[in-house]
Amino acid sequence: LRKRLEEMKGKESISKDGYKVEIAGNIGTLEDIDKVIENDGEGVGLYRTEFLYMYRDRLPTEEEQFEAYKVVAEKLGQKPLVIRTLDVGGDKEIPYLNIPKEMNPFLGYRAIRYCLENAEIFRTQLRAILRASAYGNIKIMFPMISDIKEVREGKKIIKGVMEELRKENILFNENIEIGIMVEIPAVAVHSRVFAKEVDFFSIGTNDLIQYSLAVDRGNQHISHLYNQFHPAVLSLIKMTIDNGHKEGIWVGMCGEVAGDEKLIPLLLAMGLDEFSMNSSSILKARHLIRNISKEEMESILDEILSLPTAEDVEKFIDENIMINI
Ligand code: PEP
Ligand code: MG
Repeated sequence: LRKRLEEMKGKESISKDGYKVEIAGNIGTLEDIDKVIENDGEGVGLYRTEFLYMYRDRLPTEEEQFEAYKVVAEKLGQKPLVIRTLDVGGDKEIPYLNIPKEMNPFLGYRAIRYCLENAEIFRTQLRAILRASAYGNIKIMFPMISDIKEVREGKKIIKGVMEELRKENILFNENIEIGIMVEIPAVAVHSRVFAKEVDFFSIGTNDLIQYSLAVDRGNQHISHLYNQFHPAVLSLIKMTIDNGHKEGIWVGMCGEVAGDEKLIPLLLAMGLDEFSMNSSSILKARHLIRNISKEEMESILDEILSLPTAEDVEKFIDENIMINI
């Protein structure tokens, strides 16, 4: 198997019937980028920048962030690099930010909600990202969006930062793509509206599953209820992809589900454009995509989505898809 996976390097991620997708890697620390390149990732679909802020006692400066983003952008060359703005809160604690203790941190003061309230911290990060955009194919992504107003406000802040950089004669990509994570069910349901105002979606299934099933993603006692095969979760994913495509934007996924071998065939059938995953899964995912036909998967998609339970969905996939690959 190892040899077969090695052979996947340099090959396209294309289905048996000629449908091409992009398989990218998720990164947190700088070392992760080397693993994405080693595993022939076609880009980075999620750079979790909170790691630049964690395990230290003060904010990273604009210069420190700029260097980090630039190094990754340069290593990737023309391949896309989606940089997610600070996703603090939830299970990601940054003590020096002094976020008060909350009863429900996953539903609390976090991510884009924090950044819009603390515009200086946000602007510093956006300046660093925009400056680095002169050195590669960078895209900006906002986490934990729940309301279109947050998108508008975030874009307005980016515009202001761009204006400032222009005045300082600092180069950046004027046409940088701005996208959002779809990880709150309300956004999936309302995705047609969001798609009109952003350049791309990236579905964050880790949170989307937790919020749509009301199951804390880190709570061991209820982990059996956290299920990516839940038909409602699959419907939310399909809805997001369909609505994105109706408005002409690309749709990716950077939650764990993007690398789930049993779900990749369904995501291909739904038309997902970009799969971003842990770099150790990239070659396996490519191998799988090259061995399935999108049209064949499309022909069973409706039947799968109409099954009543997660167990039924998983069983159907095991019996009808996995066995034939
Ligand atoms: C997600 O929620 O699916 C995601 C990719 O973001 P994180 O795991 O960093 O919350
Ligand atoms: Mg998330």
